[in-house]
Amino acid sequence: MTKPQLILLGAPGSGKGTQAARLVSELGYQHISTGDLLRKEIKSGSELGQRVQGIMNTGGLVDDDTVLELLKSNCDLESTAYIFDGFPRNFDQAKALDSSVLKGVESRAIYFEIDLNMLAARLVNRRTCTGCGEIYNLLSKAPQLSDKCDKCGADLMQRKDDNEETVKTRLGVFKEAIEPVLAHYKAEDRLGVIDASAGADEVFDKLKEITR
Ligand code: AMP
Repeated sequence: MTKPQLILLGAPGSGKGTQAARLVSELGYQHISTGDLLRKEIKSGSELGQRVQGIMNTGGLVDDDTVLELLKSNCDLESTAYIFDGFPRNFDQAKALDSSVLKGVESRAIYFEIDLNMLAARLVNRRTCTGCGEIYNLLSKAPQLSDKCDKCGADLMQRKDDNEETVKTRLGVFKEAIEPVLAHYKAEDRLGVIDASAGADEVFDKLKEITR
């Protein structure tokens, strides 16, 4: 049986990226993150990247059309089961995902529920490996050397938007837009909810249960 497309919903720092990596390695999904796609555009110096850089650095949302086009040109649902991470961010994006990406393909949304007050500390202490993408946290999952990856030895980096000021904006933006998105999936009986404050293993077990 083909796997349903998965849509991960949750605030920045709620653990979507960490869990997505496990879904990829253990269940054969492909991870598609609009944040990663946008950061790649910035790194490449493309026109799109230059246009969105300022917005991303301050924690605002890039316009819906730009992100939707980027997403569409980077996924092929005919052959792949995806984990959508970071899209949709608002109700219009949820509608657009259905009508111009999923187009009736079976999908399920999963909300990583967590008290937003817990997240600022998680985000400013997040570090990501520049080599293999492993995600660390200086408080809860510290690397053995503070600036090197335990797995591959490459340098760790801190995302530009993981600073206190920008994190505040990003969490505010999330809070304002998420309710209609959740209501959309709930009304169609496509929503599962996970307690994202639990440990990573527990969250993953729950995820497997929901996606089975
Ligand atoms: P993320 O990696 O998902 O935390 O996203 C980082 C930043 O990329 C966000 O703060 C936004 O500026 C931008 N971004 C990512 N996904 C979207 C989206 N679906 N719509 C608008 N902006 C987005």
